[in-house]
Amino acid sequence: MKHYGSIPGIPIGTVFRDRAELHASGGHAPLMAGISGSSTEAADSVVVSGGYEDDVDLGDTILYTGQGGNDPATNQQVADQELVRGNMGLVKSLLEGRPVRVIRGANPHSQYAPERGYRYEGLFAVEDYWRDIGKSGYLIWRFRLRKLEGVLSPLPLSPQPSERHEFTVSRIIRNTAVAQHVKALHRFACQACGVILETPGGRYAEAAHIRPLGKPHDGPDVKENILCLCPNDHLLFDVGAFHIGDDFSLIERPGRLRVLPAHPLAVEYLRYHREHFGVR
Ligand SMILES: [Zn+2]
Repeated sequence: MKHYGSIPGIPIGTVFRDRAELHASGGHAPLMAGISGSSTEAADSVVVSGGYEDDVDLGDTILYTGQGGNDPATNQQVADQELVRGNMGLVKSLLEGRPVRVIRGANPHSQYAPERGYRYEGLFAVEDYWRDIGKSGYLIWRFRLRKLEGVLSPLPLSPQPSERHEFTVSRIIRNTAVAQHVKALHRFACQACGVILETPGGRYAEAAHIRPLGKPHDGPDVKENILCLCPNDHLLFDVGAFHIGDDFSLIERPGRLRVLPAHPLAVEYLRYHREHFGVR
C-alpha cells in the first residue's frame, strides 16, 4: 500500500546520494522507473531527472512526460507512449486527488535540479494531462504537476492510530483511505443524484464531509461523516444549497439520498450540516 503525502523525517530539500538511498528512505520506491504508480494504484511519487527530452521544468510547474518509448542512452523518444502503468497511475492521482512527491535528479540543463544526487522537492498536484507529439515525433503523455505550498495540514487524528496520515489540502487534494473506501462502496455513483462519471482513468466521484474537517467544525474523517457525491452536488452541499433530513430525504430539492447498509451515516452530522449551512 502506497503512502501518499510527505514522509515523516524527510523535509523538503533532503538530498539522497543515489536511487538506492532514495528507495531506502521510502521517498520513491522504484529503483529505475520515474513514476511510482500503476494502472491500479495512484502514483505517490515521481523522479524528474532530465531523462525525457520533452520534460519542461518551470520550477513550481513541471510538464512531466509519461513513461515508455524512451531510449535511455540518448533520452530520445523512439516509440509512442501509452496510457498504461505509471502513466495511468498519474491519471489516478488526478482523479483521486492524491498529492505526488517530486524528487529532482541532477541535470545540468535544469536550473531547478540539484548539482548531484536526488533532492526531495515537496508535494505536487497532478492538475491536468493530455497527449501530444514530442520533439522526436512520437506520441507522448504529458502531466502538469503544480507545487502545493503552504496549504498542507494533517487531517484530525483518526480513530485508528495505525492508519497512516494523509493530507487535506483543498478541494482538489482531499482524500484518505476512508474516503476512497466510501466511493468504492457506492461504485462512484453520486448519493444525491445517482450520476456516474466515467473517465479514461476510471470512474470519478468526490468524498464530501458532512460536518466539515478542520477548525472550527472539527468533523471526523470517518465513513459515517462522508458522502460520495458528484462534483456538482459536492459543491451544492458544501455551500448549503441542499440538506439531508434524518430520514435521508433531500431538503430544498426532490429526491432521497441513496444509502447502503454497508455505509451507515450518523444523523448528528446531518443535523450539524442543516444547522450550520442552512439559510432558514
Ligand atoms: Zn450528483
